[in-house]
Amino acid sequence: MTAFPEMSPLRWANQLTKMLDLAKGQDRYPVDVEELILEYSRTVWPDDPVLKVVSQPLKGFEGALVPVHEDPRGWLVISNSTASAGRRRFTVAHEAGHYFLHRHRLPNGLHCKEEDVSRRAGKDIEKEADAFAAALLMPLHDLRRQVDPKVRPTLIELGALAERYGVSLTAATLRWLEYTERRSLMVVSTDGYACWARSSDPAYRSGRFIKTSGPPHEIPAVSGAARPDMADACRAGISHPSGVWFDEDVEEFTVHATALDQVITILHFGDARPRWRVPDEEPEPDVYDRFVSFESR
Ligand SMILES: [Zn+2]
Repeated sequence: MTAFPEMSPLRWANQLTKMLDLAKGQDRYPVDVEELILEYSRTVWPDDPVLKVVSQPLKGFEGALVPVHEDPRGWLVISNSTASAGRRRFTVAHEAGHYFLHRHRLPNGLHCKEEDVSRRAGKDIEKEADAFAAALLMPLHDLRRQVDPKVRPTLIELGALAERYGVSLTAATLRWLEYTERRSLMVVSTDGYACWARSSDPAYRSGRFIKTSGPPHEIPAVSGAARPDMADACRAGISHPSGVWFDEDVEEFTVHATALDQVITILHFGDARPRWRVPDEEPEPDVYDRFVSFESR
């Protein structure tokens, strides 16, 4: 079988998702991405497979896709052994994405940094590999059954998603932000300043976002994110009046003391007004791929 050069990240993830649904049923999470990439690549591209998935210390990088030129030739997928199991799973899926989508363009392989595999903020091929990983590990059809797109999940519910899919809280929350119909955002901060933030589409369209590309954005001093002494209350949820985070009421959930010394905050805003609502006709991108023309080939 030849490669499928036209296939998009989401189409690849969707095809593998359908295959796994058929082979393993609906309750098959977390996805065993190592087994998948090894078996699938060996079957479909026996001359150019992923030979091994290994975990080893990688300085300054979270993962790598490395070509092996001697016999048997193929590829190595490497994930950083100092990362948590959840982050390693996402990294392996990200590198699998590079294998499926980019290996022909990258005969020398590549190394991926932390921001490439955790924030979905990388450019071009990094974004594609992240989109593939998120869709493969957390397919929307399953995610929607876990958390209704209309509800405000608590930290416990988002934590349960992370648990189900075997990924970090950040990865699960980013995926939820992609499909929720609510106005919500996540901000990750250190030492009182925002490192990066992401809004749901309805939140963004109503002006509820935190810009981190310009001057440092200070976390409000009276917010839970600036109060590690209130860690328990922050986890349970705190209501803030207008003027704390934004000029409207918000519900804040914050996790202090995470593995990377980052503070993770989720903000829920009030019910969306009609003009902020995501149109009903918006398709689920990883179920109905945008490249419909491929179907007719
Ligand atoms: Zn990458």
